[in-house]
Amino acid sequence: MQATQRYSKKREAILGLLRSTTEHPGAEWIYLRLKADYPDLSLATVYRNLNQFKEQGMIMSLGTVNGVERFDGNTEPHVHFICDRCSKVQDLHQLEVPTALCQSAARETGASVSQCWLTFRGECSDCKSIPHQ
Ligand SMILES: [Zn+2]
Ligand SMILES: [Zn+2]
Repeated sequence: MQATQRYSKKREAILGLLRSTTEHPGAEWIYLRLKADYPDLSLATVYRNLNQFKEQGMIMSLGTVNGVERFDGNTEPHVHFICDRCSKVQDLHQLEVPTALCQSAARETGASVSQCWLTFRGECSDCKSIPHQ
């Protein structure tokens, strides 16, 4: 009984943290932040919960950035910029996916397109001024 309660509290904490941040974190980032409040939390538990949330459509996976899978607590379609150097993920609030783009996708696939997630990649404003080695 108590084990179940603790388990669901951790689950809520993971989801709550993910929904309250714009970091688009990976599992380890979440683990390190919750470890103080939940000393018996394991990284495996964080991974397991993230996968469950993902399967249930409660969070989105942005795929891997420099080898780390990143997650978004905001499941409304929106546009991202990902920095390939520092792994920063930004939401682009002012950029809307043009209807014409969705129509082109529908034309090419013959599908009914309901959502579009657009991701730009490159070097962020901080990184682009740093010379490459
Ligand atoms: Zn960067
Ligand atoms: Zn996002």
